[in-house]
Amino acid sequence: MSNFKSIAIDGPAGAGKSDVSDILAKKLGFIHVDTGALYRAVALYFLENNFDYKNQQIICENLNKILINMDFKDNSQLIYLNNIDVTEKIRIKEVANIASSISAFSCVRDFLLEIQKNTTKFNNIIMDGRDIATVVLPNADVKIFLTASLEERAKRRLKQLKEKNINCNYNEVLNLIKQRDNNDFHRKIAPLKPSQDSLIYDTTDKNINEVVEFLLIYIKEKINC
Ligand code: C5P
Repeated sequence: MSNFKSIAIDGPAGAGKSDVSDILAKKLGFIHVDTGALYRAVALYFLENNFDYKNQQIICENLNKILINMDFKDNSQLIYLNNIDVTEKIRIKEVANIASSISAFSCVRDFLLEIQKNTTKFNNIIMDGRDIATVVLPNADVKIFLTASLEERAKRRLKQLKEKNINCNYNEVLNLIKQRDNNDFHRKIAPLKPSQDSLIYDTTDKNINEVVEFLLIYIKEKINC
């Protein structure tokens, strides 16, 4: 077993997991592992190579063509797909939708499992995703499930996309999030759900500073640091 501390943060799209994990990681001196980026990198491969991403057999048979690596610079995660840095490229809407779809395939989840687990061997980490507390790190020292209303999550995601100059409107984002929630909560393998020992924290009426402040106290109590 690893001597390093691990914190699992799960929750639906737009709940603020990534931003909150980033700030917490900096404050604690931990590394932030964004597991959604791994699913997105796999999705990018199938998008760029024009595969039918709804066809499970095709996806599973072609995973062996994909090499994914992560690197951490100044606490920021870089993602490499077949040795090319795709950290920025994986943020587009099309990639998010394909990631959501292929994440239901067990071959994809198994393919990414070891990469995720390995990060705990050499660092104190905060890992965010959908099945971190339930599947990837069931022995995590701290488990948190972040959530917020659908409308609030859509508003936050729209703001993020606008900041990146990505053109879209509220209804479009709301529908995409609904669709991703549906995929995440209802897939047969590793569906999104809080583990029994997760703290469930609704951030609908809270700003990011309030969320970070509250979670920092909770985490420090749990891991005595
Ligand atoms: O978190 P992010 O939106 O970047 O994740 C992209 C997609 O990858 C999600 O819609 C989700 O379906 C999938 N995912 C997953 N398990 C994780 C992380 C992400 O299924 N641990």
